[in-house]
Amino acid sequence: MPICAYCGKSEKLTREHVFSVAITPPDYNTIVDHTRNKIHKSHPTVKDVCKACNNHLLSPLDAYGKQLNDEYFLKSPITPIEFKYSYSLLERLLLKMAYNNERARHNPKDVELFKNLAPYIIAKQNFSPNKIDILVGLVKPDDNFEPGVYRFANLTTNPPHPHLLLGRFICFRHYIFAVLIWNDLLDTNERKETIQQISKLDEMTLVSPKSDLTLISSYFLDAQEYLKKTPIALWPK
Ligand SMILES: [Zn+2]
Repeated sequence: MPICAYCGKSEKLTREHVFSVAITPPDYNTIVDHTRNKIHKSHPTVKDVCKACNNHLLSPLDAYGKQLNDEYFLKSPITPIEFKYSYSLLERLLLKMAYNNERARHNPKDVELFKNLAPYIIAKQNFSPNKIDILVGLVKPDDNFEPGVYRFANLTTNPPHPHLLLGRFICFRHYIFAVLIWNDLLDTNERKETIQQISKLDEMTLVSPKSDLTLISSYFLDAQEYLKKTPIALWPK
């Protein structure tokens, strides 16, 4: 019997959408896969999640994503935005989507990293085994261009950061989240400094685990500039 990517149990497996359909609008039907240079007319799925994980443990994350979509992502933002969040749900939603994406891309090294995070994503473990930071940025609305895309992109640093295991952008129309997964060698001061540097260069704001609200007061990029960048790797500019 095959094994569930989240709980590791041998179970009958079901399909999980890589990019939650609860988040994207119902008419969002064109999926561009830049890794393989393909256009899909339906949402990509991964068939390696058991029913219990899919229907019970992961569904609260999709429901939370839908809530954020309705409250924030579907609206054209005008700064300053008071972004209210539940840190654990937001972090686990972003990690789930990034993990689904790595499995769909058959990226063994990064899949291994997320396997370690899977018990935290399904809330079977209440702490993350890795240090993780999340930043949020906003694409500036434009009269002619609305960034209607939902997408993943790699976040790379130049030179490569010695303690960054993985960096991903996960983008919901105007809202861009950066997910940074660190190794244990990163010390607190270095972590703080690096986050400040990224925040400054990319006009992003730290989503603090100690709070439930962040004020986004500036824009990351304008819509035309943003849509030209694929994939986006913005640090340093
Ligand atoms: Zn499972």
